[in-house]
Amino acid sequence: MVVTESGVEPDFDHGCALPPLAWEACPGKGIDYPDLYRKHYGSLPTDWRVGHVDRLWTGHASDPEVRRTGASGGATSAVLIHLLESGRIDGAVSVKQGIPEPDQASWFIARSASEILACAQSVYVPVSVLDVLPHLVAGERYAMTCVPEQSAALRALQHGGDERAQQVKFVLGPYTGTALDRRAIRSLMRANGVVEDDAVTSLKWRAGEWPGYLEIITESGKVIRSKKVYYNVLIPFFVTQTSLQSMDFANEFTDLSVGDAWSPKFEGLGQGFSVVASRTPVMTEVIEEMMKLGKLELERADVLEASAMHGHMIDFKKRGGYLRNRWREATFRKAPDIGLDPEPLDFPRIAVELVISSIFTVCRTPLARWVMEHIPEKILGPLFNKLRLVWKGASKPAKRKGLRDLEMRVRVPDWKLR
Ligand SMILES: Cc1cc2nc3c(=O)[nH]c(=O)nc-3n(C[C@H](O)[C@H](O)[C@H](O)COP(=O)(O)OP(=O)(O)OC[C@H]3O[C@@H](n4cnc5c(N)ncnc54)[C@H](O)[C@@H]3O)c2cc1C
Repeated sequence: MVVTESGVEPDFDHGCALPPLAWEACPGKGIDYPDLYRKHYGSLPTDWRVGHVDRLWTGHASDPEVRRTGASGGATSAVLIHLLESGRIDGAVSVKQGIPEPDQASWFIARSASEILACAQSVYVPVSVLDVLPHLVAGERYAMTCVPEQSAALRALQHGGDERAQQVKFVLGPYTGTALDRRAIRSLMRANGVVEDDAVTSLKWRAGEWPGYLEIITESGKVIRSKKVYYNVLIPFFVTQTSLQSMDFANEFTDLSVGDAWSPKFEGLGQGFSVVASRTPVMTEVIEEMMKLGKLELERADVLEASAMHGHMIDFKKRGGYLRNRWREATFRKAPDIGLDPEPLDFPRIAVELVISSIFTVCRTPLARWVMEHIPEKILGPLFNKLRLVWKGASKPAKRKGLRDLEMRVRVPDWKLR
């Protein structure tokens, strides 16, 4: 490993200095997805957009408090609570905002329904959930919430025989589009006129009714509330490198993946709706048991319908992530290789990626971030949202073309051949 300005990064050329299993499971250099699909599911996915799916629904937790507290429909928290209360697990490893400081987040082992609910909502900054592994109690069984690269790493560890990883009996996780560099929080605060030494006392990423708003309260009593659609403006300025490199949107190695049900039908209804994808018969059984007990209100949906809700992000990761990684390599920078090449990939799609990547490159410079902080959010938020929708419409033909029939050419990742 090498320590850089942005944290600890794998040393690709000296990977063998790591224990072999740690190297195998390191998502920074890429995990061999074809190999992992075969080991974990016994086959390659038939649908490359969302991976292996046993059953898929849209809906929400039945308990209004769980639904309101959750990021979308509260299904993840409801399932964690049910796994605990039905004796299937001894603890739920989740992520909790506010540890060790209100503006930071960390893994947390929840052992009661109220502790699980205290961890609800999405945390949009990176959290090293797998750091919990040495802290698991021998003999105990856990559920764990992971973002895609962590789920894949955990599965690689489990299949490699790591006993602590094998204590995790259920993996749940969000569909994951983009996460933000932690510096985004201070930037938004500065943009709202908060001085540097005014500390954060509370931070919620998805407060209020779905889709919610970011709420920051400071020591001086200042309250910042920014609608989700407006604080999305932070994405081009503070998107993490991992988000740009990951090719897994639907969290393909969980037992249960949950995303926002972005569709006019559900958005019009408000209150919170999720897309809920079970990847294993065992998890499907848990979900059906919960439906019978009245703990979840779900309706069956097909993969096609659900994928249409996230077509933009699926393309951003599967084809965009691939192009961005290959361009990094072409410019002598390191990038993960997961052994999958998307097809089709035509010129219009490549041109769209050139525009997207140029925007990210410019926006992530200190100057662009400074300019962003000096434009009032009430102007920048709606303006960004408008531009985003215009761009989404204009790039839709190129981004959606061929997505329905997306295929992946499977090969051995380069790092395995070295
Ligand atoms: C970084 C990030 C990006 C996302 N991008 C998208 C997107 O583009 N499109 C989309 O449809 N959905 C996205 N989601 C998922 C969405 O925000 C909700 O998390 C999801 O719909 C689950 O909602 P819920 O109400 O079931 O979750 P809840 O009931 O609120 O439970 C969420 C659980 O996940 C845990 N958790 C939260 N953040 C993290 C994290 N960073 N790492 C590990 N565990 C965590 C919580 O501790 C909690 O246990 C993203 C989530 C994250 C964290």
